[in-house]
Amino acid sequence: MEPLTDPFGRLHDYIRISVTDRCNLRCIYCMPAEGMQFQPQDEIMSYEEIAAVVRALAPLGLRKVRLTGGEPLVRKDLEKLVAMLAGIPGIEDLSLTTNGLLLPAKAAALKEAGLSRVNISLDSLKQDRFERITRGGKVAMVLKGIEAAQAAGLSPIKLNVVLMKGINDDEIQDFIALTLDSPLNVRFIEYMPIGSASDAWRQTYLPLERVVAACTEAGWETTEDEGPSGNGPSQNRRVIGAKGTFGLIHPVSEHFCDNCNRLRLTADGHIKACLYWEDEYNVRPLTSDPAAVQALFRKALGNKPHNHEMALALERKQQSHTPTKRRMSQIGG
Ligand code: SAM
Ligand code: SF4
Repeated sequence: MEPLTDPFGRLHDYIRISVTDRCNLRCIYCMPAEGMQFQPQDEIMSYEEIAAVVRALAPLGLRKVRLTGGEPLVRKDLEKLVAMLAGIPGIEDLSLTTNGLLLPAKAAALKEAGLSRVNISLDSLKQDRFERITRGGKVAMVLKGIEAAQAAGLSPIKLNVVLMKGINDDEIQDFIALTLDSPLNVRFIEYMPIGSASDAWRQTYLPLERVVAACTEAGWETTEDEGPSGNGPSQNRRVIGAKGTFGLIHPVSEHFCDNCNRLRLTADGHIKACLYWEDEYNVRPLTSDPAAVQALFRKALGNKPHNHEMALALERKQQSHTPTKRRMSQIGG
């Protein structure tokens, strides 16, 4: 069968699936403090529907699946979905992005069900600051989550750090120091204007050159590195002699679109071929018909633009399409 390609010849073998728009945190860059309207349970894809979509796409070359959210671990019995997806022929890499809070309770069951690895979000190592960024989170619980993932054998473990000017940019060295003695991959991610390109975003956005400068200031020599498997758009480096690596993900300042291999599925069943633009296709009514699922994904890919234009938002310039109004918690990152 024809693989999943877009008009620019990019092969799509990776889907990021949001399993819920709900979360046990309220990170400042992702959700409002109050008043977030969550979708009613009956509007959220069932595990059977999600598995049906993945089963329809696997023969077209889908190989990688990432579960995300909202916070995927607040969805009941997530390990059941993991087991269903792990059993689909062709799926080689099954991963999860999580804030880590529930990993101590869940890591072993997820591994047992067939999860390969986890990305854990952690934007500060300082409790007062972490609490402010997440509006109430406890950093010690995330650190316990990291330990639980290590103990369960979920590997490699990647830490996602959204870098924000004046908020956590003085912790770059502390995060890189974590890689000196531990095989972690710390990924610094530029703050993206998803859901709104507000003045607050423009003031807080920081291009990732700052990370390289912080290494020089610390006297660390670094080399380019392949990084762990499932690398995606991250440019990886290693402090010479370190057990782990760190990566830079520049969604805003440098396009990571040229090699984009990603599809996205929102918790309510909408295909997003690009994270940033508003175009969506509702696949939920079609999940009992694999050919119709395949056709809708092909249609979404047929209309996939070559790139997002987040950098234009920074400069307040006119963009070629309409940006999504969904929040990151609804898309999944
Ligand atoms: N709740 C999980 C978590 O926090 O890891 C999974 C969902 S979260 C939406 C996925 C990733 O998107 C996280 O690493 C988060 O830090 C990142 N993210 C959310 N909003 C962002 C933004 N505006 N810019 C950059 N990254 C963002
Ligand atoms: Fe929740 Fe993740 Fe969004 Fe933070 S980034 S509010 S943990 S979904």
